[in-house]
Amino acid sequence: MVEFRNLTPPEDGQEIKEEGGKLKIPDNPIIPFIEGDGTGPDIWRASQRVLDAGIDKAYGGKKAIAWFQVMAGETSFNETGEWLPEDTLKAIEHYKVAIKGPLTTPVGGGIRSLNVTLRQKLDLYACVRPVRYFQGVPSPVRSPEQMDMIIFRENTEDVYAGIEWSEGSNEVKKVIKFLNKKMGTNIREDSGVGVKPISITGTKRLVRKAIQYALDKNRRSVTLVHKGNIMKFTEGAFRDWGYELAREEFADVTVLENDLWDKYDGKMPAGKVLINDRIADSMFQQVLTRTNEYDILATPNLNGDYLSDACAAQVGGLGMAPGANIGDVVGLFEATHGTAPKYAGQDKVNPGSLLLSGVMMLEYMGWKEAADKVVNAFGVTIKSKVVTYDLARLMSGAREVKASEFASAIIENL
Ligand code: NAP
Repeated sequence: MVEFRNLTPPEDGQEIKEEGGKLKIPDNPIIPFIEGDGTGPDIWRASQRVLDAGIDKAYGGKKAIAWFQVMAGETSFNETGEWLPEDTLKAIEHYKVAIKGPLTTPVGGGIRSLNVTLRQKLDLYACVRPVRYFQGVPSPVRSPEQMDMIIFRENTEDVYAGIEWSEGSNEVKKVIKFLNKKMGTNIREDSGVGVKPISITGTKRLVRKAIQYALDKNRRSVTLVHKGNIMKFTEGAFRDWGYELAREEFADVTVLENDLWDKYDGKMPAGKVLINDRIADSMFQQVLTRTNEYDILATPNLNGDYLSDACAAQVGGLGMAPGANIGDVVGLFEATHGTAPKYAGQDKVNPGSLLLSGVMMLEYMGWKEAADKVVNAFGVTIKSKVVTYDLARLMSGAREVKASEFASAIIENL
């Protein structure tokens, strides 16, 4: 039994268990949720209603989520004095599947970012961001429907590891002295310095997840995106370790790009996943110019951050981009945008990002029928031009509705 200081889990729910690395989902799983700050409560309420209705429609009352509210962010700080209470981390870890709205990042005061803290404390090492097009959404490109990619971004290493020292600090002086004196570098005295660690462990567990996903979902390829031509021992190593992992653990179900021509005359054998690699800057062109040639991208932290927003822009922006942070077992699903504070409490912004993150969560739980129903109804609603302000301002002939009305329209279309 897990014990909380200030929380009481719902009595009508059951715990998700894990057996041999696989989740066992009961019919009434307890799922912790964080509403989020700013516009979070608006989009959470809208998303929750749609998810519940989708589940009900799919399973006729046989399955339902026992939602369990947990606290984080500004709302939590105002009520409890803590930005990220221990209870919240404990609940997510214990119940294994959770969902969150956007959180205000506290300025100053020790905590860097609640999202980064959650990812690091729970070791949620894969940030998974699917990017796909919904018909009717305004897009800056000519064939947005070609975009159907899933980005697996390493979540714990790279320049995001939080190892950096500010210019002029005692620490940075020591680091610069050590590097210049002992390692033969020539760093200017007035520099800030950051460290970019990329490990075999971090790379292989991320690439393993990406390849396993490709196999599970019958996808065509996994592309390792790196800047290895310049950063050879970090990004270049990411590429090399990615290929090594594919050879070591997936040799019979993958084809490496070099072998595609040497052994298969350029034709992919059926049922196998192609593993290739691209340099990050070229990849930014490729996602625009040869969109339909790419499928799953596996990248170090910084490339993945840039690339997922760039890809999202091609299909209508961040209001529509879902995300998940996944570890060996625990999955935390989240809207990828921020709290959009100027619209807080106006029931205005697009709940799409959080709702589609909920859809990813249903898929993670194996509740595919409900996930499909929600995605389908979401697509139908947008196609009928009943949309929130962000899409309405870009569409001709659209009917602008509030977030809650948008949710009601989706529910009607289920
Ligand atoms: P933001 O909250 O993402 O908002 C920037 C703009 O994006 C909004 O003004 C709005 O554009 C548009 N937008 C965001 N969400 C939308 C939605 N659901 N529907 C339609 N449009 C949406 O970024 P920010 O203002 O830079 O950050 C605000 C706070 O959020 C900060 O405290 C930041 O640290 C935090 N943050 C949290 C997360 C997270 O929890 N995952 C991520 C990023 C930022 P228009 O004004 O053009 O309508």
